[in-house]
Amino acid sequence: MNIILLGPPGAGKGTQAKILQKAYGIIQLSTGDMLRSSVASGSKLGQQAKAVMDSGNLMPDDIMTQIISQRIEQTDCINGFILDGFPRTTEQALALEDMLESSDKVLDFVIEIVVDDEILVDRIKSRVEEMSQEDRRSDDNVETLRKRLGIYHEQTAPILPFYRERGMLNQVDGMMSITEVSNKIKQIVTTV
Ligand code: AMP
Repeated sequence: MNIILLGPPGAGKGTQAKILQKAYGIIQLSTGDMLRSSVASGSKLGQQAKAVMDSGNLMPDDIMTQIISQRIEQTDCINGFILDGFPRTTEQALALEDMLESSDKVLDFVIEIVVDDEILVDRIKSRVEEMSQEDRRSDDNVETLRKRLGIYHEQTAPILPFYRERGMLNQVDGMMSITEVSNKIKQIVTTV
């Protein structure tokens, strides 16, 4: 089973992807985590990623597409995967369609976790207050979140109609508790 989780930054995609990974034995592919490992390794890609992530912008489509096209071919993706953070632009959504087709894989579900911007801003404010400096992501601050939300609405939200037209888009209210959200997602993925 191959799933895309969509939604604004801070909507809980990572948390839900981890729950799905455990429940269905499919692997979470978080492009943000992949980029953060590159940053930690100090590679050239990591240096570029750090600057881009800290500014709240997006990495170039060709780089992200290449990372994902190689990643989905690895053996741990054989039972399926949950894309968390990809695609983030129409270009990436089109590239994903091509790469799935050429590797004989299908997309089973696209799930949008819907959360109001102001709730996300409130959530980040409490996270910043609760977490120690070292546990916090360097892009965890209100200013960067607002920038990332702007980019989400401009560049990522336009891919929602792309999946809606294909009859693939499911929406889940992400303002419920973590368990309620995951129960809704489980209902969607077990309906077929
Ligand atoms: P995330 O952990 O998914 O919130 O991603 C953190 C940051 O990594 C984003 O704000 C982007 O700068 C970058 N990033 C992650 N995934 C992508 C992607 N698919 N395309 C472009 N940039 C990405």
